[in-house]
Amino acid sequence: MLKEKKMYIDGSWTDSIKGEKIEIINPATEEFFSTVPKAKREDVKKAINAAEKAFSGWSRLTSIQRGRYLRQASENVAKKSREIAELMTKEEGKPLDEAEGEVMKGADILRYYAEEGERVYGRIIENEEKNIKSKVIYQPIGVAGAISPWNYPVELLAWKIAGALAAGCTVVAKLPSETPLSPLAFIGCIAQTDLPGGVLNAVTGSGSEIGPVITGSPKVKKIAFTGSTAVGKQVLRNCVDSFKKVSLELGGSLPMIVCEDSQMDKAVEGATYRSYRNMGQICIAVNRIYVHENIYEEFLKKFARKVKSLSIGNGLKGKPDLGPMCTEDGLEKTKEHINDALNKGAQLVYGGEKPKGEEFQKGYFFKPSILRDVNHDMLVMNEETFGPLVGVMPFKDLDEAIELANDTNYGLAAIGYTESLCKSKRLTKEIQAGNISLNNPSPGVINAPYGGWKDSGFGHEHGPEGLEEYLLTKHVREKYFD
Ligand code: NAD
Repeated sequence: MLKEKKMYIDGSWTDSIKGEKIEIINPATEEFFSTVPKAKREDVKKAINAAEKAFSGWSRLTSIQRGRYLRQASENVAKKSREIAELMTKEEGKPLDEAEGEVMKGADILRYYAEEGERVYGRIIENEEKNIKSKVIYQPIGVAGAISPWNYPVELLAWKIAGALAAGCTVVAKLPSETPLSPLAFIGCIAQTDLPGGVLNAVTGSGSEIGPVITGSPKVKKIAFTGSTAVGKQVLRNCVDSFKKVSLELGGSLPMIVCEDSQMDKAVEGATYRSYRNMGQICIAVNRIYVHENIYEEFLKKFARKVKSLSIGNGLKGKPDLGPMCTEDGLEKTKEHINDALNKGAQLVYGGEKPKGEEFQKGYFFKPSILRDVNHDMLVMNEETFGPLVGVMPFKDLDEAIELANDTNYGLAAIGYTESLCKSKRLTKEIQAGNISLNNPSPGVINAPYGGWKDSGFGHEHGPEGLEEYLLTKHVREKYFD
């Protein structure tokens, strides 16, 4: 058995104190293929104590010294990228090349924050009084709790771990129960750098049972959480008593606006990529597409043709465009959103069923699906489906498109396609979301801040802002005598 199938606490690979296990299922075959420990409260407390003890030594290193660990970790991850990707495809379902791309992004962010850590400078501020200067310095906040979901099991964890370690914090990570193996292997690569014991700890187990041990502990000074809005609210409530610094990357309901003057083929390509990549199980998956009424029919025709051409299969065999969904619950929710829309008058343009064939008898496979004639009373247009489903609706003018895009409690990201400078400016300014992508379908990049508005949360990951989340600001007023 690989040592990375255990938890990592205080520099050792360990089982749960009670010996309980969680079973891991392959969503392409529905077979159990592995287990990880099911932590109890005592295991998590042990991890928090180890992180607290290690903080003093780790935070006293210079950022250049910490950066050496992170750079080495990045190289270790890159060397094992295929191996980690295979675990990810087996537990999450995404095609192998895509999984490897995700692992390499994990390697990349370790390298990026090794560098960004060296750029935490501080400021010197002139005072009115003679011989007095104000200095602003930044210090690591302490033990950081990192809680991440299953859909991007390595990348979303890496954003947190890399920023926290670079800032000088120690970490207790709570890994997703559906997909713990690839993140454990990723953590193994960081541990291999001879990282001092206790600096990085990872526990596996039930979120509702052990999550609150981390969020409620006064020893943990910062929580970085990515997950659903409902759980995000519980996390925030649990952080109140100990006044923790919190960042929440929550759900979304991403609108895409296709203006009449857009390059249609590029918009169709972008919509296909961003609606169905990872079977729509991305917080920034396109959920709702608003197309100018004069090009609505043409867009739907081209979009359906492109979506029909996507291949589906077990991500470990061949090179399918799409794998299975990760969970049966996710599949059921997608079907529920389709039925809800059909009952309220929408029409199915494509999909809505399992693909046919022997190889799809088992596994959470589903065809990428498109609905037309949708409205905002339908779940597909007002709730996050988190599945391979998109609703397409016409609009008359940009005022209406922007109003529809903003008609949601979420505010994570939006996408616009237009050739007009003026329309681009309006989309940029008037859409209420933390990330806007114009004429491209990817509103996230590691060296620029990524975060949501409204019910999509607050705080940032990526960029210098992602590092600031792990720092406290201190003002020092110094007087010099002549
Ligand atoms: P989830 O909220 O169910 O779980 C997220 C993590 O929280 C898991 O590790 C889970 O075990 C843990 N958890 C559960 N209950 C907890 C509690 N009471 N206290 C502390 N931790 C607890 O989400 P999920 O189903 O794993 O992931 C899907 C959701 O994540 C979607 O809503 C999606 O939009 C969101 N997401 C957001 C982003 C973003 O950047 N905004 C990125 C990816 C996913």
